[in-house]
Amino acid sequence: AKEAGKGVYALYDKSLHTEFKERMTIEKHLRSALDNEEFELFFQPQVDLLTGDISGFEALIRWNSPDLGFVSPLSFIRIAEDSRLIIPLGEWVLRKACHFMAEMSRKQYNHFRIAVNISVIQLLQDNFIPTVLGILSESGIAPKCLELEITESVFMESFERIVDKLEYLQSQGIRIALDDFGTGYSSLSYLQQLPISTLKIDKAFIDPLSDNSYSQSFIKTMVSLGHEMGLEVVAEGVEDRSQLAFLKMTGCDKVQGYLISKPLPERNTRELLEKWSRK
Ligand code: C2E
Ligand code: CA
Ligand code: CA
Ligand code: CA
Repeated sequence: AKEAGKGVYALYDKSLHTEFKERMTIEKHLRSALDNEEFELFFQPQVDLLTGDISGFEALIRWNSPDLGFVSPLSFIRIAEDSRLIIPLGEWVLRKACHFMAEMSRKQYNHFRIAVNISVIQLLQDNFIPTVLGILSESGIAPKCLELEITESVFMESFERIVDKLEYLQSQGIRIALDDFGTGYSSLSYLQQLPISTLKIDKAFIDPLSDNSYSQSFIKTMVSLGHEMGLEVVAEGVEDRSQLAFLKMTGCDKVQGYLISKPLPERNTRELLEKWSRK
């Protein structure tokens, strides 16, 4: 028994050690990645279900490290948050996204909206509001063209302060989207207190949609709840036509997913827009 215990311990210890080393390696490379211009911002279109037109994009970061290869944001964003590197990185993302939106505005796509993921670490920064407003005015885009995507977890952190900041940003015309809706802890009563403009239904609810009546009724409920509260409702992770047809039927406002397009680099995003507008 003693031997076995030792073995288990050794195994456990090793995997923890490996994980730790991995994190350290990523963190080390992250530190220089911004200066070395290893990041790229991709854009995934959102389509308005009423008109069938592209209504905007979500900006998603990509990291191609010369040493580590392609690293998923699912693994490096957490590390960037823990090391606070997310602050300069998040600012880079916001600036890139707003300047891309400005370019689109000049091409008459001025009704578009650009959605940018914001980490709680950024939100808690004292100068978050001036940073956002500064980038908005330097890019020259209308505040209503910018949507900040936050997750429910930001409200676990000093609720009052976060609510105040988001309310102020909203009062300036910026939109706030609640990302990954349905996966967190939010009770319905507390949802009403949040300064948000958009609900994004998480992919986890869209995946089992096709032949699962439970997730169908769940989605119907989320859509009507959102509309009841005067919010726009967006579904993410839409991969097939049956999901799309169902979402249309529920009155969901917008969809985003591989069915329409994967996230694309800037150049391909421009091409997609040209192709789309010729249709
Ligand atoms: P998220 O904000 O929930 O973004 C949606 C994720 O789903 C993206 O993954 C997107 O590429 C993926 N996706 C979209 N449509 C489909 C689909 O039809 N099928 C499938 N299988 N996947 C789809 P991605 O780009 O790997 O990003 C993962 C997460 O990393 C994001 O989840 C977000 O939490 C975070 N992230 C990405 N970029 C940023 C950023 O610039 N800042 C911050 N703070 N977080 C970011
Ligand atoms: Ca998002
Ligand atoms: Ca999401
Ligand atoms: Ca997510």
